[in-house]
Amino acid sequence: MPIDAKLPYDEGNIFARILRGEIPCKKVYEDDFALAFHDIAPQAPTHVLVIPKGPYVSWDDFSAQAPDALIAGFVRAVGHVARDQGLDVPGYRLLANMGQDGGQEVPHFHVHLFGGRPLGPMLAR
Ligand code: 5GP
Repeated sequence: MPIDAKLPYDEGNIFARILRGEIPCKKVYEDDFALAFHDIAPQAPTHVLVIPKGPYVSWDDFSAQAPDALIAGFVRAVGHVARDQGLDVPGYRLLANMGQDGGQEVPHFHVHLFGGRPLGPMLAR
């Protein structure tokens, strides 16, 4: 079920628990700003989730409330992960679902990184 992205941050959400090390993940990258790990239900040959290290529900929350250093560090981390996965030459797609219409299910801001094959049209028709 898509979330109500205007609710307060829920410290018990699954990505918060992954960040705290309470639940395992297949980690691909970590720095002071971000953690990246494989999606549990991949929808492309490469499907990595990149999450910021901070309590932000959504893109809306992150873009409005996060400090500049975290936003910059997060964006650099996403780019680093994409290059590290070998996707910078063939290309890739980034996706951030936001709120109900965006279909966001996990209430901790995250970017999906898809790659490894031509990804087709931007949206299902
Ligand atoms: P959203 O719809 O919120 O943008 O995407 C949430 C994503 O998180 C989905 O692609 C889903 O497969 C992934 N996911 C949900 N629970 C877990 C989990 O426990 N571990 C990992 N690695 N991915 C998860």
